[in-house]
Amino acid sequence: MFDTVFITGGSRGIGAAAVREFTAQGRRVAFTYLNSEKEAEALSRETGAFAVRCDVRSYSSVEQAVKAAKEQIGTVEVLINNAGISKSGLLTDMTPADWLLVQNTNTDGAFYAAKAVLPDMISLRRGRIINVSSVWGVVGASCEAAYSASKAAVIGLTRAMAKEYAAGGITVNAIAPGVINTDMNRVYAPAEMDEIIASIPLGRMAEPQEVAQLMSFLASERAGYITGQVIGIDGGFGQ
Ligand code: NDP
Repeated sequence: MFDTVFITGGSRGIGAAAVREFTAQGRRVAFTYLNSEKEAEALSRETGAFAVRCDVRSYSSVEQAVKAAKEQIGTVEVLINNAGISKSGLLTDMTPADWLLVQNTNTDGAFYAAKAVLPDMISLRRGRIINVSSVWGVVGASCEAAYSASKAAVIGLTRAMAKEYAAGGITVNAIAPGVINTDMNRVYAPAEMDEIIASIPLGRMAEPQEVAQLMSFLASERAGYITGQVIGIDGGFGQ
C-alpha cells in the first residue's frame, strides 16, 4: 500500500479533490497551498490532512515543505505534482516575465518536488509520482503557448524520470486532463464555455474528483506495471 501522499496545490480545484480522495481511503496526506490559506485550513480541518505553505517556484520552499510533511505523515511514497497556473493570450502579447512565471510554476515546480522526494523513495525502493500535465501539453493550444510548452515539458520530464527510476521500484506517469470544472476555467465567459463544451465529445466538463480517482488508481498497487505514460482524462477532447 502507498500510504503517504504529498500533493502540491491542494488548496483548490483538482488538488483539493485529490486531498479528499486520498484521505477518504485512509492514506496520510500532506498538501501545499500558496495564497489560499483559508481554504487550506478549512480542508485540513475537514479531512485531517496536513497543510503546509509552499511556493513551488522555489526549491528551498519545496524542500522545507517536504521536510515538514515527512515529520507529520512519514516518508512520502506518493507525489502528486499538481500545482499549476495558466496565462492565456497571444504569444506576441506575452511578457518574458509571464512566460517564466508559467514555466517556473508548472515545470520547475514538478522537478523541484520530484528532486525533494526521490532520495527517500529510492531508499524505500518504492514510489509513485504523478505529474499533472494537460491536453494542451499533448496537442498545443492557440493563445496558450507558455502553458502548452510547460505542460509538454512535464511530459518529457515524466518519460525521462520513468526510465531513470524504474529499476528503483518507482513509477512515474503524467495525466493530461481536458476541461475540468475548477477556478482555472472561470476566466471564460459563459458563451465561450458553451463553445468549448460543445467541442468535447462527451459533452461536458469533468468534475475534479474524476481526475482525483485517476490519480488514486495510478497511486495504487494495481497500477504497478504502468510507467512513463501520459493518460488523458478529457472526454475525448484531445483526440
Ligand atoms: P486551480 O487554479 O483551481 O488551483 C491551482 C492550485 O495550484 C491552487 O491550489 C494554487 O494554490 C496552486 N498553486 C498555484 N501556483 C502555485 C505556486 N507557485 N506554488 C504552490 N502552489 C501553487 O487549478 P486546477 O485545480 O484547475 O489545476 C490543477 C492542475 O491541473 C494544474 O497543474 C493545471 O494546469 C492542471 N490542469 C487543469 C485543467 C482544468 O481544466 N482545470 C486542465 C488540464 C490541466 P493557492 O490557491 O493556495 O495559491
